[in-house]
Amino acid sequence: MDELFPANAFSKDVPAKEKPAADAPRCVRVMPFDGGGRAYAYAVPAELAGRTALGSLVRIPLGSRTTLGLVWETDVAPDPAFAKKIRAISELLYDIPVLAPDAIKLCEWIAGYYAAPLNSVLLTMLPAAVRQGVRPVLERTVSLARELDADALAALKRRAKKQAELYEFLRERGAAPRGTLPFSAAVVNALLLSGVARESAVPVSRLAYADIGAGVPARRDVVLNAEQQAALDSISASLDAGKFRAHLLHGVTGSGKTEVYVGAIRKTLASGGSAIFLVPEVALTPQTVERLRSRLADCGTRIVVWHSNLSAGERFDAWMDMARGNARVLVGARSAIFAPLRDLRLIVVDEEHEPSFKQGETPFYHGRDVAVYRAHLLGAVCVLGSATPSLESFYNARVGKYVLNRILKRVDDRPFPPMRVIDMRREILHMQGQTTFSRPMLDAIAERLAGHEQCILFLNRRGYSRALICPDCGNVVECPHCSSALTFHREDNTLRCHLCDHTESAPSRCPACGSENVRKRGFGTQRAEEILAQRFPEARVVRLDADTMAKKNEFRSILERFRAGEIDVLLGTQMIAKGLDFPRVTLAGILDADLSLHVPDFRAAERTFQLLVQVAGRAGRGQLDGEVLVQTFTPSAPPIQFAKRAEFDEFLEDELERRREFHYPPERHLIRHVFRGTDRDRVEAAALAWTEFFEKNAPGLVEIRGPAPCPTEKILDNFRFHLWYFCARVPAVVGAISRLRAAFPRDADVIDLLDVDPADVN
Ligand code: ADP
Ligand code: ZN
Ligand code: ZN
Repeated sequence: MDELFPANAFSKDVPAKEKPAADAPRCVRVMPFDGGGRAYAYAVPAELAGRTALGSLVRIPLGSRTTLGLVWETDVAPDPAFAKKIRAISELLYDIPVLAPDAIKLCEWIAGYYAAPLNSVLLTMLPAAVRQGVRPVLERTVSLARELDADALAALKRRAKKQAELYEFLRERGAAPRGTLPFSAAVVNALLLSGVARESAVPVSRLAYADIGAGVPARRDVVLNAEQQAALDSISASLDAGKFRAHLLHGVTGSGKTEVYVGAIRKTLASGGSAIFLVPEVALTPQTVERLRSRLADCGTRIVVWHSNLSAGERFDAWMDMARGNARVLVGARSAIFAPLRDLRLIVVDEEHEPSFKQGETPFYHGRDVAVYRAHLLGAVCVLGSATPSLESFYNARVGKYVLNRILKRVDDRPFPPMRVIDMRREILHMQGQTTFSRPMLDAIAERLAGHEQCILFLNRRGYSRALICPDCGNVVECPHCSSALTFHREDNTLRCHLCDHTESAPSRCPACGSENVRKRGFGTQRAEEILAQRFPEARVVRLDADTMAKKNEFRSILERFRAGEIDVLLGTQMIAKGLDFPRVTLAGILDADLSLHVPDFRAAERTFQLLVQVAGRAGRGQLDGEVLVQTFTPSAPPIQFAKRAEFDEFLEDELERRREFHYPPERHLIRHVFRGTDRDRVEAAALAWTEFFEKNAPGLVEIRGPAPCPTEKILDNFRFHLWYFCARVPAVVGAISRLRAAFPRDADVIDLLDVDPADVN
């Protein structure tokens, strides 16, 4: 990841700074949100002079309209020839900058590294309500401005009885919110006007998840064990040094990494700094907030939450709270990395290996890598934590870019649950009528139910069965818009596309040959739920997947019920594979380990290994011993064997070797270039023409593979081709691609997109 630190990462054509002469108008450059990603010079009117800073939100005239933008550069010396013509900022919207001081460089770096338009990066960074300059909601409080002597009060009583009553009310109660006063607006206004009462307005702050962990008393201090303490000491030393440093905290599941993060956050707060805590899933934020609020309750700071499900008002308030310095700890998903915290000194990225940190649309940034780069810009400390580090981070630690801290023992020396691999090639012969649960899996579940212990069962496919497949002609019903098999959903007898949500009713005959033998092949979470209900009618089984998640707060309430012991078996997709900590879970079952293994993705082995280790980590976290069962048709596959033996380093070394052999990351970078459009031939022709054009104009710059059809060739009626650039350093290649793209005679009906360091190869 060395190109995360290029010396001239943001040396756009910014002119050398000259201090303006004392009498020259103060001048700044402003980046409008709706411009072409260029900043323009404006004069700062005298009345705004002391208040306009880097990152201030301002209204400016632009051409014949006015628009909003950010102060991008201060102390600009205008070209003397134009100094007279320069226009002035017309309004300053907030008294504080809405971006952190480092965010402008961060924005420019993201735009350059990920080949994204600067404006798209700004839209991602700043919440819409802030960008639009929304006025904060104010809470108006009325209080007395002065006391009246007896005569004056008597006079008021005669003249305006109601106002006198209001006066007495306020004298008795003290200040009161205006909305709660039992008097008419006319009465209140009259008393305000007379100067006897006054009104103050403070912005209200709607705190998301205010209910979580609020009243929880601080838990008595946990005593860290030796490994936890060593990790915390190492991170503390970096915080003390006050310089940029990245740590990789590799701590096995249940090793107490969160306590190490808490220790680092406490230290940061004690020194007057603030911290960002990134989690991979929106669904995990409440749980993390709860833990942090209870562990940091005595630090006297607000812990705010940030993720995509917040209301516009909640986002606005959280953002402004941070910008004002009122909140100093933020927990959030990917985009929380842009938060305007003051004195940001620590960034924690928990579960750093998770692909969800990568944004799947423009700008295709990786939250973890942006975290490291932001820490670098600020001279802050970044801690990447995981039980299953990504190959990228493992490699960076091996070559000495990151400090490696390890916790190899679970808290209190709890043993790792043994992992049993079930060979489905043999088991399938004994499974009548269903192909979801092997005998050992059913026996293990029965045992847990009898002992009043809990199970987590994992199946990375929602719905009822994979596809509708005809045994007579082999036809699979596919989505008419995407080259992807439709999934059968039993509850409404439909076939659905999980890419575009196309829905149609399920046919009873094969649409190709008319056979009535069409059968539902494979299985999904719904089918698994149904089998469990048949086998264990007394068991309380709950399914947790994207379908049940459609309801707001459903995830939270299910987890609460599971924690309270009101659910015996939790059955779900990848959502339940990570982070959850339930002491009474003694069985973790993986129903199909092959689902992630046999896919056309160079990270398939890594993902499978991570999945197995993470799911295994859900079992045996309390005083009870746990067990892990894995069903697979390929029991000897390396990630399965390494996971079974809990050989983390061995897996990482083995995988690193395999990646090296095929020139895949982490030692080299990949850039994916996708072409799409509705006419397959023209998409293919455009991809080929571009490849030829690029190789001719930038010969030998980079190794190219492709173009080839994407694994999912069609999505939403768009045909897709891609090519891959394999390179040692990204910026040079992205720069060349961007320059040549501007000169390439393009087909207007074919869109192309660049994805730097892609997480998804479909
Ligand atoms: P990880 O995130 O590494 O999987 P957690 O941070 O969730 O592990 O910790 C697992 C459990 O162990 C939590 O319930 C936590 O409160 C507890 N724990 C962590 N550190 C200690 C400690 N030093 N002593 C006792 N319990 C601890
Ligand atoms: Zn579709
Ligand atoms: Zn058929």
